Formats: sequence, C-alpha cells, structure tokens
Amino acid sequence: TTLSAPPLGLLLEDIVRRHRPRQNAGNVPTNIPFLATVPFDRFGIAVATTSGEVYSSGDAGVPFSIQSISKVFTLAMALQGGRSAGLWSRVLREPSGTSFNSLVQLEAEKGIPRNPFINAGALVVTDHLLEETPDAATQLLRFLTEQAGDAGPAPFIDEAAAAGELDSSSRNLALAHFLKDFANLTRPAAVVVENYVRQCSIMMTCVQLARAGLFLANNGQGTAGTVLSPSEAKRIGSIMLTCGMYDAAGEFAYRVGLPGKSGVGGGILVIVPGQCAICVWSPRLDAKGNSLAGTAALADLSDRTGWSVF
Ligand code: GLN
Repeated sequence: TTLSAPPLGLLLEDIVRRHRPRQNAGNVPTNIPFLATVPFDRFGIAVATTSGEVYSSGDAGVPFSIQSISKVFTLAMALQGGRSAGLWSRVLREPSGTSFNSLVQLEAEKGIPRNPFINAGALVVTDHLLEETPDAATQLLRFLTEQAGDAGPAPFIDEAAAAGELDSSSRNLALAHFLKDFANLTRPAAVVVENYVRQCSIMMTCVQLARAGLFLANNGQGTAGTVLSPSEAKRIGSIMLTCGMYDAAGEFAYRVGLPGKSGVGGGILVIVPGQCAICVWSPRLDAKGNSLAGTAALADLSDRTGWSVF
C-alpha cells in the first residue's frame, strides 16, 4: 500500500495522540544513568520514503540516545566496499533467544556470538572496524551525519552519557574479555568497549535516523549516495527481522511484521522494503529492553497501513 501525502501526515499525528505515554510505566536501563533522566512522555515518529519525502510528528525533532540502533550502522560500515573479509567467521547470524547482554551462549559457542545485534556480536563488529580506524565511533558519527542530511541539530556523541555508562560497564567488559579469551577480539577489551559505548551514545532525532536508515529500505541507496549493494542491504534487513529485537524478535515480527532494530534509549528503526524507513522513539522500555510505546505504535501503524514484509 502506498499512502498519499496528507493521509500519512495525519496518520502520524493520530499515532502520536494515541501512543504518547500518559503515565510513567515501563523500565529504564540501570547501567546508563543518563537515560533515567529522559521524561517518560517523550514520543516521536518519522517516516522517510524512498521517493524522498519525510513525514514526522510529536518529538521527532528531539535528539535521543541511539544506543543499540548503532549496531545496524556499524554492521553496514563493516560490510561496505568488501570490508567484511573475516567478519562472518567471527559472528553468526542466528537469533539468540537470550537477552542482549547475555554471557551464556558465548561460553557454549566458544566465543562466537550468535549475531551482530546482541552486545557480544556488536563488540566483534566494532573490533573489526577498529582494524581500520582508531576511532570507530567518530567514523560512525560521520557516516550518520552524512546520511541524516541537515535536518535538525547535528548528531553528536554525548561524551558525558558515555562516561556514565563506562563507569558501569562491567558486563560489557566481561563479554569483551570472554571474546578475547576465545581469540575473537584483536584490540584490548577496554578499547573495544569504550568505542562501543561511545557509538551507543550518539544523539540523533527520529527524522535523522529515518533518513540515515533509508538505504536499508532502498536497495542500499542512501540519502547521500550508495551505501551497500542491494544484496548486502537485503541481508542486513534479514538480520534485523530475526535478531533486531533480541529475545523479543519473534514477538515483534508477530506484532509488527517488519525488520526492526531497537535501542535502550527507546528508539526503534524499522524498514519497509521499497517504501520507507520509520523511526519511533519513546524512552520507557519493556522487560526485554525495547520501547513499550514505540512497539505498540509500530504494530498500530503496520496494521493501519498494511506495511509489512508479509
Ligand atoms: N549501550 C547499551 C548496552 O550495552 C546498549 C544496549 C541496547 O541498546 N540494547 O547495554
């Protein structure tokens, strides 16, 4: 279904009316102090279409912490221009069925993470990028800034938020040391975790993230030129569908029917292949670490538009 302009704008306004939280329900991550300070009633949504339009409503112009949505983009950077050599022997492409920061499978599977979108796998991807640059987070920021265009305040790394998270990164450090023990990390654990935490602390708006994610819905063609081949873009979409919501990937596919990637900042990036990229943001989370209101809003939006890969 392709919606014409006025109905989509109105529909997004209605989505905001219905789904903006009225009371403070849901969780905030305990390991990132900054996120607990974000008001519970923030809610934004933006749709960037393959025909070049952007529609948005609510707090779609307010920067938020992209957190694990960064994992989609570091993977894209790792696959760009044939840079993926060696990566797929270091990380699998299977749903984990465990929480995003779980250690258990890493031991069972001898240091090979189940997929690039859980923390262990994302640390491997960041390590892979660090083979080419000493500052993968800044390189990611540059990539995102370029793809986001000049809409709104420039994306930036919230270094104070990153420092706050680094102070309570025992678990991510444990994952990194585990990877190192299995010889699946080339850089020191502390260096990889610091880069990873800084990439997670990038601040962007829904409009910017929808624009930056458009290449995934558009055969690899981004707002600022070719990012990936159509085949590579398809594959990232597939991993988003099977692994993008951690141990809620099945439930999200059932409710929304679209590839998505969440972050504990409350953002979710969703792809409608051939049509658009959608970013929704609402900071309070469900038990699996995915935006409560954001997931509900996307389920509503896909039902009402017919947007789905099924
Ligand atoms: N920086 C967060 C962490 O590693 C990212 C987690 C997430 O967004 N799911 O805990």
